[in-house]
Amino acid sequence: MGVVLTWYVPPALDPNAECTGYGYGPVTNALSQFPTILEIASILPNDGAAVDKWASIQSSVPNIAPKNISLDIPASVGGADYPKTDPDCWWSFAKCTTPKAQGLPVDISTVPEPNTLGYGFDDGPFCGHNVFYDFLSSQNQKATMYFIGSNVMNFPLQAQRAVVDGHEICAHTWSHKYMTSLTSEEAFAELYYTIKLVTGVTPTCWRPPYGDVDDRVRAIANGLGLRTIIWTYDSNDWKFGPADPTVTVADVDSNYQDLISAAGNGTFATAGTIILTHELNNFTMQEAIKFYPMLKSAFAHITPVGVAMNVSNPYLETEYKLPSFAQYAAGTTTLGSNTINSNDTVISSLVAPTVITTSTSSLATPTGTGTTTTQSTTGTSTETTATTSKTVSGALRLHAGSNLESLVPCLAWAMVMCLWL
Ligand SMILES: [Zn+2]
Repeated sequence: MGVVLTWYVPPALDPNAECTGYGYGPVTNALSQFPTILEIASILPNDGAAVDKWASIQSSVPNIAPKNISLDIPASVGGADYPKTDPDCWWSFAKCTTPKAQGLPVDISTVPEPNTLGYGFDDGPFCGHNVFYDFLSSQNQKATMYFIGSNVMNFPLQAQRAVVDGHEICAHTWSHKYMTSLTSEEAFAELYYTIKLVTGVTPTCWRPPYGDVDDRVRAIANGLGLRTIIWTYDSNDWKFGPADPTVTVADVDSNYQDLISAAGNGTFATAGTIILTHELNNFTMQEAIKFYPMLKSAFAHITPVGVAMNVSNPYLETEYKLPSFAQYAAGTTTLGSNTINSNDTVISSLVAPTVITTSTSSLATPTGTGTTTTQSTTGTSTETTATTSKTVSGALRLHAGSNLESLVPCLAWAMVMCLWL
């Protein structure tokens, strides 16, 4: 497919206008049912269901020791002690996606549909991203959103919006750590509590932060019914800014262009691919908006990964359906009303708001798009809470940091957020 070099001028996104932290009562009141926000998850005391689930999985987890990596030493990945034969199929070491342990499915890093892009964004939700979601809606474009559990707790209304908008939700762990560095029980909890969230849907897919997965972690995810989704093309959009001052806009543009060029020269004639991008900050979202028309021209189809995989039931709650690839290609990008079913929410007191109001301006003041600031959803409650309470503001400050693929930009974001708050 030819590349159309029309240059889309994206709307200016102003995070100061876009985002003010808010407290959402039902979530705030239920914090004790979840791990501490943005700290490594563990099974909560007296959580019998979690204990039982872990017990049912434990015996199928390969005896692989946690890896010696941490947030501040990613360069040590593949350190001297790890065999070059990559016995654990450690993606961080050699991009391995075909497990060596028995009984585990191959990671999803491409999609079977030709000339198709598996589209999605990591690290949401976040209070300042409504303009971006408005943009996707304006294009009738659905994506796979890889949500961090702690972010969902901080920004439950945005998480609900993603469901209502018809995006596919996958888990991106509770606290966004290197999963292979955690104990097996911690890794279990990072996934277990992340999928026990406030949207009322239980994902069946996950993406490891930093792509850091091995057969031990895969087995835990598989025990929870989670498909592991990696990527083939990395926009490296997260690197721009404090994460790596040497990375320029041109570098990130070039990464996008590489994918667009590959699409244009027939690379995906027999099978499509998956790109890693982020709803991380204004830059990453601006890049996504800027390149969307070019991707749209370069690929025959841009769909959520689940659609490209013909996953009809994206969640354990079977009332939610994804369109088939054929349906999506024919223009049916969402099935049903995607309403939040309060009966599905794990927190019994959490009921979906009838209207997620933004009247406090706490959620969104889109700049330059003229698009709506109201998120509508259907539920059984009349609750319209979207206050500017800062009940979880401490977590917000932490959140801002771990929202990132790197600790360095986290710190920068945390500083900015502190100024906002
Ligand atoms: Zn991430």
